[in-house]
Amino acid sequence: MTNPTPNVDPNEIRKFEDLAWRWWDRDSEFKPLHDINPLRLNYIDDHAHLQGKNVIDIGCGGGILAESMARRGAIVTGIDMGATPLEVAELHALESQVEVTYRQISAEAIATEAPEQFDVVTCMEMLEHVPDPASVIAACAALVKPGGDVFFSTLNRNPKAFALAIVGAEYVMNMLPKGTHEYAKFIKPSELERWARSVGLELRNIAGMTYNPLFQSYRLGKDVDVNYLMYFKKEM
Ligand code: SAH
Repeated sequence: MTNPTPNVDPNEIRKFEDLAWRWWDRDSEFKPLHDINPLRLNYIDDHAHLQGKNVIDIGCGGGILAESMARRGAIVTGIDMGATPLEVAELHALESQVEVTYRQISAEAIATEAPEQFDVVTCMEMLEHVPDPASVIAACAALVKPGGDVFFSTLNRNPKAFALAIVGAEYVMNMLPKGTHEYAKFIKPSELERWARSVGLELRNIAGMTYNPLFQSYRLGKDVDVNYLMYFKKEM
C-alpha cells in the first residue's frame, strides 16, 4: 500500500505529541514559541491585516499563533498531523473562548480539498520538521488566493545557526529538548525563496528573529543568520 501522507516524518510528529500537554505552559519546552509569538503575530498583522481574513495555519501545533490570529479578528483554520497537539489546541480554544477550526490533515491534502480558499497562509517553525519542505511550500501556494499573503518561518543553515539553535538552545541553555532540531533540515533563505518563486510566490520581505540570552528576549531585525521570517505574495 502506498503511504497516503508521504511527506510526514512519524518521528517528528511523535516528538511533538509526547510534549503536547505542556504546550501552553510558558515555562516548558514551548517557551520560545510563546516568547516569539507577539513578534510574528505583529509582523503578519502589519503585512496582511488579519481582521476579517480567512487564514490557515499549517503545522499549528497547540495553537499559539492560530489563537492569537483569531483574537485579531481572523477566521482561522489550524492543521497539523499530530493528534495530541490538536487536542490541546481545541481544549485551549474552548477555555479561552476563541473560535478556531482545527483539523488533522496534511498541507498537501487540504490544498487539493480547498484550493485558493484562503487570504492568508502561515507556516511557522514547521518546514524544518518535514521530509520535503518544497512540497509544503507548494501546498501553501495552492491554498492561498491570487494576490494573497503567505508567511514562513524556519531556521537558517550555517555554522552560526548550528552553534546557537542546536548547541546553544539544546545543549548549553537547555531551552529545548535535545534532538528537537536536525541541522541538515535547516533551510537557507535563498532555498526557501527559490522553492516559493517556482510555485508563484513573490518575496516581499524578510526579517530575522534574534535572541538575546542576557535579557532572555527576542527581537525582529535584519540578522537572518539563525531564525527568520519570510513574507510572500501570490501572483494575481
Ligand atoms: N507552528 C506552530 C508549531 C511549531 S512546532 C508554532 O510555531 O507555534 C512544529 C509543528 O509542526 C508540530 O506541531 C508538528 O506536529 C507539526 N508537523 C511536523 N510535521 C508535520 C507535517 N508533515 N504536517 C503537518 N504538521 C507537521
